[in-house]
Amino acid sequence: MVDMSATIIHHGHIRLLKKAFEYGDIIVGLTTDQEIINVKGYKPELDYDSRKEILESIKYVLQVVPTSWKINNSILEKYKIDYLVHGDDNFNKIKRDKLLIFPRTEGVSSSELRIKSSDIVNKVKRNILLNPGPATTTDTVKLAQIVPDICPREKEFGLILNEISEDLTSFVADKDNYSTILFGASGTAAIESILSSVLPKKNKIIIVNNGSYGDRMCKIASRYNLSYVEFKSSKISAIDVLKLEETIKTIKNISHIALVHNETTTGLLNDIEEIGTLAKKYKLELILDAMSSYGAIPINMEDLNISYLAASSNKNLQGLPGVSFVIAKNDSLKNLKNVQQLSYYLSLKEQYDYFKANLQTRFTPPVQTLYALKQAIIEAKTESIEKRYDRYKKSWRTLIEGINKLGLKYIVDKKTHSKIITAINLPDHIKFQELHDYFYLRGITIYPGKIDEFNTFRIANIGAINYNDINEFLFHLNSFLILKFK
Ligand SMILES: *Cc1c(COP(=O)(O)O)cnc(C)c1O
Repeated sequence: MVDMSATIIHHGHIRLLKKAFEYGDIIVGLTTDQEIINVKGYKPELDYDSRKEILESIKYVLQVVPTSWKINNSILEKYKIDYLVHGDDNFNKIKRDKLLIFPRTEGVSSSELRIKSSDIVNKVKRNILLNPGPATTTDTVKLAQIVPDICPREKEFGLILNEISEDLTSFVADKDNYSTILFGASGTAAIESILSSVLPKKNKIIIVNNGSYGDRMCKIASRYNLSYVEFKSSKISAIDVLKLEETIKTIKNISHIALVHNETTTGLLNDIEEIGTLAKKYKLELILDAMSSYGAIPINMEDLNISYLAASSNKNLQGLPGVSFVIAKNDSLKNLKNVQQLSYYLSLKEQYDYFKANLQTRFTPPVQTLYALKQAIIEAKTESIEKRYDRYKKSWRTLIEGINKLGLKYIVDKKTHSKIITAINLPDHIKFQELHDYFYLRGITIYPGKIDEFNTFRIANIGAINYNDINEFLFHLNSFLILKFK
């Protein structure tokens, strides 16, 4: 028996049948229409009788019989089956000696074909976003937004939120000792939530500022009247950790330290291992803005002594914008009961407590964005964080080789570079807007620079893109430069 639903028949089915045919006569166990509706949630394009008719005319097939989604031993007995043949995604509970497993044909499945041929997706043009998020998304993530309307206070949705939270935690920590707290907002909300929720009144926090996002944390701290010390550091080279340590020693009642992991301003990657060691030595709670590193650069919160980490749905996770989240150590969250919450909406403690008690966010979450995030997480797990970073790094090397050839320079040395976002010097006679518009017409979005000292533009190599897209960018950049230098 070969079991399939064959909703859209393709060469993967044929190859499997052909292989199975080498072992004997084939009875196809064909999933009924009702089972497909129940399990997969859609009505098959071709009904059972049509699918049966097609299969029966394939020369390898002897007979087609209706079956449930999963095949069990009693079905095998009923049709006197010797072996169940399945692709290597088998989840049927069948005795091992009755199973024949073959590798699936790569790059094809009915679900993928369904999405590829979907009217909705085909009407959406693929843009290449080289801005540092929201990043280019896959069609499957785009499509995942389209779901039946649902009230987010339903248990069904609560379970999805819970699964999302646990998965987000699992990328960087063990989910028994760390938790994810979700907010319906852009990434800055997660940072603001931490800063306004974790610092006891009498305590001080040191904030490392070596770019716009470190600067933003200082501005937030200032807005909430926190007792903070700003530690200014070069925007283009590594933090002087000895100097940082000396500063920490002089601050009375210091209990927290905050910094950005990958400074999106330049792509400067701060050494969080060194800072984590420092945090441990001085018993400081470490707050990390990992917005543009999470999901690509592997992070282990426990090893690095990170108490609070902030990230969002639309950067390396390759989801849609609208969800930001804090991942925190449960022990740190427990201690918040004595800390005054300075924001009502963004209270980390209240959002955490409320979700734990009710499996709901306190306020309306972006429902459809969360469904898309769920799909984005599946895709991140399938690819793995390490492989995703490898893909990004390959794009980055392509970018650097390309701009070198064109005689352009980039800021921040390779050693301290995140290989995720790059600030590239813009020749003086070129206006960013002109360059932007040239690319935008061609379906590519580039991003302005953010450092006053240099005339730059930025290229992020994140999202559902690869080095071929970077080559396309380089091709157009070359044409543009030729045009300008004529
Ligand atoms: C993107 C980003 C943020 C958050 O920006 P939002 O526009 O609020 O999503 C914060 N910090 C860093 C380092 C970032 O790259």
